[in-house]
Amino acid sequence: MKTSERSLKKDRERFSQIHAILTEKYPEALCALHYEGDPWRLLVMGRLSAQCTDARVNTVSEELFRAFPTAKDMAEGDLAGIEKIVMPCGLFRTKAKNIKDASRMLVDEYGGVIPNDIDELLKFPGVGRKIANLLVGDIYGGDAVVCDTHCIRVCGKLGFYPETEKDPTKIEKILRRVIPAGEGSDFCHRIVLFGREVCTARSPLCAECPLASLCAHKAKEEKREERARRAKEAPHG
Ligand code: SF4
Repeated sequence: MKTSERSLKKDRERFSQIHAILTEKYPEALCALHYEGDPWRLLVMGRLSAQCTDARVNTVSEELFRAFPTAKDMAEGDLAGIEKIVMPCGLFRTKAKNIKDASRMLVDEYGGVIPNDIDELLKFPGVGRKIANLLVGDIYGGDAVVCDTHCIRVCGKLGFYPETEKDPTKIEKILRRVIPAGEGSDFCHRIVLFGREVCTARSPLCAECPLASLCAHKAKEEKREERARRAKEAPHG
């Protein structure tokens, strides 16, 4: 077996241990966006969530979907009215235009049905790989790896790629080789919960982390501390 095959095999084994622990901790792999089972709402909320918290998107969306309850309503809606509601999500002009245009496209070209295909979904204004994966995974239960900020940070720390790697397209490709078919969507939802609660961006709670024994970042930190301790204890000159 070549070294690259051996390391992929090891990563797959480590992944399955990690996912088992996360599944026990978060049995329900629920999407943080409250889209109430409506695929169009998930598309809209996914777009609004760029550089914005899911909590804020959930709050803003309540008013948005009260004013525009269907894709047709939004497609025909007044752009300034949409902008005003989505303003708290940031980048509001682009986001408002994207969700209006995407709603128009959904109604006119897809008969209101969200396609179950990543390449088709990428044709919608404002839809990138993150949203396309989210839709395919959550709506259709398909193979999906949602590379959002939590997934990128945590999976880097766990050692599936260098922590300095931040390119979501590259990361999706790497993770797709490691994650078994059909597990990606649930894993990514769990990683979001874990990234918010334990492996936070500011101060990860490594001392109480259930993944500590499987974490490359933690292993590196421990080695570094051990080296520093030895250097301190070594007799001087
Ligand atoms: S040990 Fe620390 S860095 Fe590693 S996954 Fe857990 S919280 Fe994150």
